[in-house]
Amino acid sequence: MTAPLIDPFARAITYLRVSVTDRCDFRCVYCMSENMTFLPKKDLLTLEELDRMCTTFVNMGVEKLRITGGEPLVRRNIMSFFNSMTRHLNSGALKELTLTTNGSQLHRFADDLYAAGVRRVNISLDTLDDEKFAKVTRWGRLKQVLNGIDAAQKAGLRIKINAVALKGFNEPELPKITEWCAERDMDLTWIEVMPMGDIGNEDRLDQYWSLKDVRAEYENHYSVTDLAERTGGPARYVRLEETSQKVGFITPLSHNFCESCNRVRLTCTGELYMCLGQEDMADLRGALRDHPDTEQPLENAIRTAITLKPKGHDFDYSRQAVDGRMSRHMSHTGG
Ligand code: SAM
Ligand code: SF4
Repeated sequence: MTAPLIDPFARAITYLRVSVTDRCDFRCVYCMSENMTFLPKKDLLTLEELDRMCTTFVNMGVEKLRITGGEPLVRRNIMSFFNSMTRHLNSGALKELTLTTNGSQLHRFADDLYAAGVRRVNISLDTLDDEKFAKVTRWGRLKQVLNGIDAAQKAGLRIKINAVALKGFNEPELPKITEWCAERDMDLTWIEVMPMGDIGNEDRLDQYWSLKDVRAEYENHYSVTDLAERTGGPARYVRLEETSQKVGFITPLSHNFCESCNRVRLTCTGELYMCLGQEDMADLRGALRDHPDTEQPLENAIRTAITLKPKGHDFDYSRQAVDGRMSRHMSHTGG
């Protein structure tokens, strides 16, 4: 272990999100355009390089790793990477190994993920209607994801459903989605659409359904109590008395959560983003590839990057224009 990573605002960096691929088997309308150009394979970190990166971060105090993408489970041989991270769980250095997935491949991997030490997964699902699902994901099929959810629960994985709140789209399904999660003992979090990347013809201001309005909609159906509980991230929670259920709201655009931010994001090409909502990044791939026999240059590059972590982000929809827009896609940085 080396000295822990502390940023200039005295926040300890203990959480790393790692995008292992920019590719995906879906084309969600708020995330990608239909005709995406993906990165050349040679630019991607190999699985061995991803191991070196993550191991270095773990040695510097990272306790939680979330694997994401693109769709992490479409990366070839990705289980060998999960299996290699198991050693850090076994040593006690890593407290949690988890992933965010669209669920399409979970029927194949759920048991193996559990065996590797994964205990919780976040599954993105915005609707329970077959046709709407095909529409919002363009290439996805609901049945496949539901099979994946069954397999994950059978394997013993705890599930959190992440639903992007889309105005006029999943609005009418709010009670249905909520009660489906309660019946299956799955957590539920709503996410606001963020201005990430060019997505073709879709208009983000049309998609944007403020979580203030989502919360108000909950009050039309349930008795809602605000909870003080925070988990270090952007989510706020309410309890629904009727279902005894906790529902989360991720509102990066309407609330400032940055003061407790403990996370950084590594892209599949080895760029480290210190903030989801800022363009500033540090390229760690050179420090890794140019020095195959020592991690010292990589450690130095990581420490320098952490000194650049900004105080907060600049997203702003308030003037009805998408200010603070990010040119990169969510699938690049890893959601
Ligand atoms: N493919 C995996 C999945 O869908 O869960 C992991 C990567 S995906 C980029 C991670 C999360 O980002 C998903 O929950 C997705 O709904 C969310 N997301 C993608 N684009 C977004 C956007 N523009 N605004 C808000 N959330 C977005
Ligand atoms: Fe793929 Fe996830 Fe983006 Fe949908 S949100 S296109 S599943 S990366």
